[in-house]
Amino acid sequence: MKKIKTTITLALLLFAASFYSFTPLNDAPEKAPIEMPDGCHYGQCQAIAKSTGVQCKHCVSERGDLYCWQHK
Ligand SMILES: [Zn+2]
Repeated sequence: MKKIKTTITLALLLFAASFYSFTPLNDAPEKAPIEMPDGCHYGQCQAIAKSTGVQCKHCVSERGDLYCWQHK
């Protein structure tokens, strides 16, 4: 009987561990660059989102670039 109890305890521990691993981290750092509200230093990304038809609001990172780092 003791062996069964140990197995159940292990199963519960594994269940708890897997549950915790699926919990999203709220304080994960954002990978996207900070958007500049008023104009861009080198211009705005010219890419148009296919799903919404709205122009990308990101700024290009280098002079002469037409697209942001995400749309290159
Ligand atoms: Zn873009």
